[in-house]
Amino acid sequence: MSTPALSPHNEFNVYESAEARFEAASKKLGLEEGMYRYLRYPNKEITVYIPVTLDSGHLEVFIGYRVHHSLVRGPCKGGVRFAPDVTLDEVRALASWMTWKCAVVNIPFGGAKGGVICDPGKLSKGELERITRRYTAELSEWFGPERDVPAPDLGTNEQTMAWIMDTYSMHVRTTTTSVVTGKPVEMGGSQGRRAATGRGIMIVCDKALARFGLKREDTNVVVQGFGNVGATAASLLHQAGYKIVGVADVQGGLYNESGFDVLKLYDWVYHQHKPLPDFPGGGARMAAQEVLFQPCDILVPAAIENQITSENAHRVQARILCEGANGPTTAMADEALDRKGMFVIPDVLANAGGVTVSYFEWVQDRQGLFWRESEVNERLKDVMEHSFDEVVRYSETHDVSNRIAAYMLAIDRVAFVLKLRGIYA
Ligand code: GLU
Repeated sequence: MSTPALSPHNEFNVYESAEARFEAASKKLGLEEGMYRYLRYPNKEITVYIPVTLDSGHLEVFIGYRVHHSLVRGPCKGGVRFAPDVTLDEVRALASWMTWKCAVVNIPFGGAKGGVICDPGKLSKGELERITRRYTAELSEWFGPERDVPAPDLGTNEQTMAWIMDTYSMHVRTTTTSVVTGKPVEMGGSQGRRAATGRGIMIVCDKALARFGLKREDTNVVVQGFGNVGATAASLLHQAGYKIVGVADVQGGLYNESGFDVLKLYDWVYHQHKPLPDFPGGGARMAAQEVLFQPCDILVPAAIENQITSENAHRVQARILCEGANGPTTAMADEALDRKGMFVIPDVLANAGGVTVSYFEWVQDRQGLFWRESEVNERLKDVMEHSFDEVVRYSETHDVSNRIAAYMLAIDRVAFVLKLRGIYA
């Protein structure tokens, strides 16, 4: 397994990281020059200025983005994040990752991403509703079940999706549930969607264990991030018998080699609303990033980007890296991880459970027929296991890392359809 040296100009610019990996995979694939140029750039980038009257009466203008990276394999799909440090480059990178992610799991979507520069923790529910509605109104020509289908991401949730669905429906004068996924189940959401990313992580961890001949109960896991993805992954892994020895959220981290009772921790954080590092379940307190470097078998970074870098990759002690977040590892860290012989389950595969169940939600909305949770979970397992096998097989056949294999597989699938469709002129 080998990864060509990737050297973006700025290690922490996620768009440069995404480009470096795209370039390495395209070269290895022998992608034609024209295809390379086509797939490298997004299809469209939209910036919207969102005027909102705050509760104080003050009129503020927020900046929002939506990037369509690709519509080649179907309508473009991807989350909307609300965060104070959103940048257009970040949204661009995330949009391209959605294209590759949807292609890796072979669902009929292209990639998109959106973001609004705001701090959801400091805004009231009413203010968040007005931001969401105006953002949606500005983008109403670009959204649509056959155009662009948003979903939750950092700082957004089911309520945000309900507002997007309602605003879009008011504009087109038709109730259109399939314009967003990750909605509340009561209004066209899918069973199992909320837990889907975490469940997908568990499924690929199980697959990795089988390769290494490890047992769940002998496997120590560190999970960085305790939001929807991290908390669900940690809870499901814990319930399945894995030992969760490290946890962290923005407030800090905890490590305990005897393992945590994650259900109690969940209750502490989500029902008692107490800070994660104060959890009385034992364990050494440390900075959130430090948990990444503690002894464990599987490391699941499920928080934000740029956590594992060329500076710190040598400190990671895990044997398996399962990327719950998008872009937690910089492109410049890839080589160091390869040198260590790390088995990487790259983000575009590891966290694809979310968009896979989003696809199921879109299908159910369009059919008007809803599946039981067991059926959703069974189909998810099937997709994740099959995709894992395809990526690993591709990596072995082409002697590349799992990450570059996932990109190659995805780029090849998109380029194949692009050639069939041709260039409209
Ligand atoms: N935001 C999630 C992701 O990054 C889900 C996207 C979706 O379901 O469309 O994969």
